[in-house]
Amino acid sequence: MAVEMTTLTGLEPRSFWGHFEALTRIPRPSRHEEPVIEHVRAWAAEHGFELHQDAGRNLVIRVPATPGRESAPVVSLQGHLDMVCEREPSSPNDPAEGRIALVRDGDWLKADGTTLGADDGVAIAAMMALAEDASLPHGPLELLMTVAEEVGLEGANAFDGSLVEGRVLVNLDSEEDGKLTVGCAGSTDTWVRVEASRDAPVADAVALAVTVSGGLGGHSGMNIEYGRSNAIKVLGRALREAHATVPFRLVSLDGGKSRNAIPRDAAAVVSVDGAREADLRAAIETAAATIRDAFSKTDSGIDVTVDAAESTSDPWTDAATTMLLDAIALVPTGPLAMSPDFDGLVETSTSLGEAMTDGDRLTLHSLSRSSNDSALPEVIAALDAVARLAGGELEVKHNYGGWRPDLDSPALAALHASYEGLFDEEPIVTAVHAGLETAVIGDKVPGLDMISFGPQIEAPHSPDERVSIPTVERFWRLLVAFVDELSKPGKDT
Ligand SMILES: [Zn+2]
Repeated sequence: MAVEMTTLTGLEPRSFWGHFEALTRIPRPSRHEEPVIEHVRAWAAEHGFELHQDAGRNLVIRVPATPGRESAPVVSLQGHLDMVCEREPSSPNDPAEGRIALVRDGDWLKADGTTLGADDGVAIAAMMALAEDASLPHGPLELLMTVAEEVGLEGANAFDGSLVEGRVLVNLDSEEDGKLTVGCAGSTDTWVRVEASRDAPVADAVALAVTVSGGLGGHSGMNIEYGRSNAIKVLGRALREAHATVPFRLVSLDGGKSRNAIPRDAAAVVSVDGAREADLRAAIETAAATIRDAFSKTDSGIDVTVDAAESTSDPWTDAATTMLLDAIALVPTGPLAMSPDFDGLVETSTSLGEAMTDGDRLTLHSLSRSSNDSALPEVIAALDAVARLAGGELEVKHNYGGWRPDLDSPALAALHASYEGLFDEEPIVTAVHAGLETAVIGDKVPGLDMISFGPQIEAPHSPDERVSIPTVERFWRLLVAFVDELSKPGKDT
């Protein structure tokens, strides 16, 4: 295909950059990938590659082996078609409309005022460039291109695993040069739901709003071991400690915006006898000082305020208030176990992400993660126990199992050897405490040997997204060497 390559002129590998540049002109926001699907479909037809699309709209393209490599095992290459379409409000460019203006900044490639879509355009461009180059030896390849990765791995969740013939899956959606990823966490959502009775407030009751803010927050998996405060837990603790000395009743408690983030904000409305208002304010300030001290080294900006409020409903009873505050105290949050394979990596964690009051009911939503599927049932059992002790119920939604690191993986050994052969240095082998599409696909195709790598991409999902050009060349050379290595005669077992 004829591509103008003004910004990218001279960059190698030329065919990769040609495909990458073409993708920047095609709209591909999550759930609206049709234009890029048509682009890939036309490309596959032009090259005579068999293409399948599953009910989830994901693509599987079969690329025949190069001569002499026909009996090699099938290798699946995988990446996602969609991209996060963020832009500066003042920018004339908009990825959602296929307007990405490429900018070279030394060794970096970025987009003018928008996301670049190197996450995960590098994977799609690399697959296309590799598949059409007859001079690069490889066995039978299967190109797995998923949709809607950026919206909760939706495409991978709908992926039809029966289409996968590969025994090795190479995910190309990693963002750190020099690192080979061999594991990630699976996850389960839970909701503790407790119905509790309310009755009329005491005669001279006043309503107060207790608000927690100022914490650092962060990703509920990747940042869970940093000792940051959870605003819902801070609020629960401040109220519980105050409740031990000053009677008050809870009217509502809400906090957190996303299951995926450590909550930074939470607020409760309480009803207290007007004669005890000053005592309650003082008790909450005392509790807040202790909590701030607990987090003084890890999250020093915690702010707890008390303001006059309107009470829109009757408070929960005193017994219900005690029980609800106990339930919040019992819901675990934070890292629970460290990886036996990698120093400093969390294996199992749980994060209380959201609290919601709805009528008489309080709901506590947690996201629990582990790369070790056998570890999570105990975490869920604890949450179930909280629900039952509080007279409530637990809803459990298993999302996908973990991708447990296998340091004896043949794919890892082959990729490690390819890496050392090319770059004369050792790669870093690691895993992440977050979800990747590999976990979801691996759940559907038991026994897949999986690995993930990519070039250096910084600030993905933001208009500052940029990809390091020299690391793209390293990524490409590693991919080419790896598919060659995996298909060398004698590798078929
Ligand atoms: Zn991605």
